Amino acid sequence: MPMPLLVPARAACAAASLLAALLSAPALAHKAHQHGVATLDLSVEPRRLSVWFTSPLDNLVGFEREPRTDAERQRVDAALAALRDAAALWRIDPAAGCSPAEVVLTAPVLGLGAGAAPAAKDGHADLEARWDFSCRDGTRAGFVEHGLFAAFARLGRLEVQAVTPRGQMKVVLRKPAGRIALAR
Ligand SMILES: [Zn+2]
Repeated sequence: MPMPLLVPARAACAAASLLAALLSAPALAHKAHQHGVATLDLSVEPRRLSVWFTSPLDNLVGFEREPRTDAERQRVDAALAALRDAAALWRIDPAAGCSPAEVVLTAPVLGLGAGAAPAAKDGHADLEARWDFSCRDGTRAGFVEHGLFAAFARLGRLEVQAVTPRGQMKVVLRKPAGRIALAR
């Protein structure tokens, strides 16, 4: 009678696949490119907390192509410096004991990241950032605070999805809301 054994095994397998898919953010579906709006996907694990940020480049520098003037280059440099400074941009509940581990920025029109993808055909372009934090116990994080609205004046709304060991949540933050409450 193998069938009763097979059913739970397959169910468990499907659940594991779903979890793997959810953790491989930014696979989570969000609405497409919309100026003023960006998305955040948080993944909370015991030893690591990761945040993926996808934003129209317009929100960050005011244009969506390579910079053409010194002033534009300075805006790009300032935006990238702000994004790379994870310790200034993020504050994670101290209970989790997290510290910045890695920042990866991808914006092909700025020459950042893997691949030499050309500028988007419709004249729009995104920047993706991923911040990884090493944590003593990420599951103890009751909140995550960000400084994205303060750093980027053109950004008005953040669509947030979080996957934690206790489940998933979605929330929309409107400027100047800086705190994401996590279930724990
Ligand atoms: Zn655009």
